[in-house]
Amino acid sequence: MSGTNAGSSLDAELSGLLGAHWITDGSRLEALRGDRSGLIAEGRGIGLAEPADTEQAAAVLRIAAAHGVPIVPRGAGTGLAGGGVVGAGRIALSTARMTEIREIDPVDQVAVVGAGVINGELDRAAREYGLRYAPDPASRAISTIGGNIATNAGGLLCAKYGVTREAVLGLTAVLADGRVLRTGRRSVKGVTGYDLTALLVGSEGTLGVITEATVRLIPRPDVEPVTVGAVLPDLGGALELCRELQAAGQRPALLEIMDARSLAAVTRYLPEADRPGPFAGPLGAGSAAVIVQWDAEGAGAAAERAMRLVDALGGRAIRCDDEAGGERVLGVRRAMNPALPNGTDVLIEDVCVPRSRLAEMYAAIARIEAETGIEIPTAGHAADGNLHPHLSVRAEDRTPGGEIPERVWDAAARVFRAALDLGGTLTGEHGIGVLKARWLRDELGDESFALQRGIRQLFDPRGQLNPDAVFVADDPGANANGDTVP
Ligand SMILES: Cc1cc2nc3c(=O)[nH]c(=O)nc-3n(C[C@H](O)[C@H](O)[C@H](O)COP(=O)(O)OP(=O)(O)OC[C@H]3O[C@@H](n4cnc5c(N)ncnc54)[C@H](O)[C@@H]3O)c2cc1C
Repeated sequence: MSGTNAGSSLDAELSGLLGAHWITDGSRLEALRGDRSGLIAEGRGIGLAEPADTEQAAAVLRIAAAHGVPIVPRGAGTGLAGGGVVGAGRIALSTARMTEIREIDPVDQVAVVGAGVINGELDRAAREYGLRYAPDPASRAISTIGGNIATNAGGLLCAKYGVTREAVLGLTAVLADGRVLRTGRRSVKGVTGYDLTALLVGSEGTLGVITEATVRLIPRPDVEPVTVGAVLPDLGGALELCRELQAAGQRPALLEIMDARSLAAVTRYLPEADRPGPFAGPLGAGSAAVIVQWDAEGAGAAAERAMRLVDALGGRAIRCDDEAGGERVLGVRRAMNPALPNGTDVLIEDVCVPRSRLAEMYAAIARIEAETGIEIPTAGHAADGNLHPHLSVRAEDRTPGGEIPERVWDAAARVFRAALDLGGTLTGEHGIGVLKARWLRDELGDESFALQRGIRQLFDPRGQLNPDAVFVADDPGANANGDTVP
């Protein structure tokens, strides 16, 4: 956009289209500079557009394209990779008004929903039909279906039911020039053409703005879940227990692991009354935890076997045969987030390795801790091999603006390298966003990087959609597609 006239004409066109839902109020734009990653974008965005539906979203994108102004799609802003932060020269396109659960079909077992529907609300609505929406990020009470799809969010239950990608059948998305794309289907099967639905899942707002989704629902289990929470004398015992639990018998619905530093942080944070069974303490210095749950016929026998294994490994455990008890045990794992929140003091990372290599990943993290002096409490989804190292910022390393210091990023880079060397990935579920864009090529390799950037260019030739995330300009004269801008 150039010149005041262009700016005021953009403003006039968007307020003409959206009325009070074109927002340029300073405090609203200030809040959009951040998300839950701790990243704060430089400067404030131009405005916040809140279209009511796909057609209005398409009109917003057409207007923005005509003025050459980049768009950042925005769900609830709970992202942990900085992909939704809105800085100077950008328009935020929010799905906050697309909150309609248009349809729940118990025969097809699908729901058709607006992108702004909150994950937990969809699951609650599905419950009335005996169904569930399985992808359950820990942010399910606050994050949107559109944001979950854009980041391919995972959660505890993904051990058994798969990540968001497995639950998405079809999408409506608006492309950078305002064209409306409909992908996928609502049938269980279908192989016509390329799978553009899967391509959009995890695209972090760089290929299109998702406005509506057709998602798969599954029957709710008809047995009470059985949960075992165990404290083992050391991390080796916890890893051994995870291996045994996956090697034989029923597949757990969830399987979580916490190392000694994680367990210590949660113990400090949670009152004793909220720490059931062995979590109430006292805990040995190197103690580590495993929480496992089954939700199908035979769950009791699986739990019995788990209790015997814990005993043989010298640990202590609590078993709960109802949902409420299970929730209390899971509360210990869920307390990791509030105990060590992402922000100025902690950088939460998200590596994922083949689960057979979890022990090696933990060993690599311990080496990086010893060599850098940075503490890295690490908990994660053991069944997926997805670990969340919480890199701590030491008081003496704090930066005046509260940004994560380069020293901590250097340690994070070593964690990423270790995951890649073990056949894993930089990010299991949080996405690349802005914060990890500099490591993208390391994982993809040159061929895949170039091909994927070409796909981005095909969808958005001028590099206008979320240009600061995932694929970013490699030099100041280029756009997000890598093309030189005249
Ligand atoms: C306490 C807490 C716990 C969390 N736990 C988990 C967890 O267990 N698993 C997990 O995977 N993540 C977790 N997260 C991270 C976060 O909640 C997820 O990444 C979530 O999917 C983001 O959804 P959102 O609606 O907040 O999207 P935003 O943060 O607004 O956006 C995230 C990204 O998606 C893009 N985007 C958003 N909406 C759209 C759309 N409609 N179309 C196109 N692009 C869009 C944005 O541009 C941005 O790149 C957690 C975060 C917090 C704060």
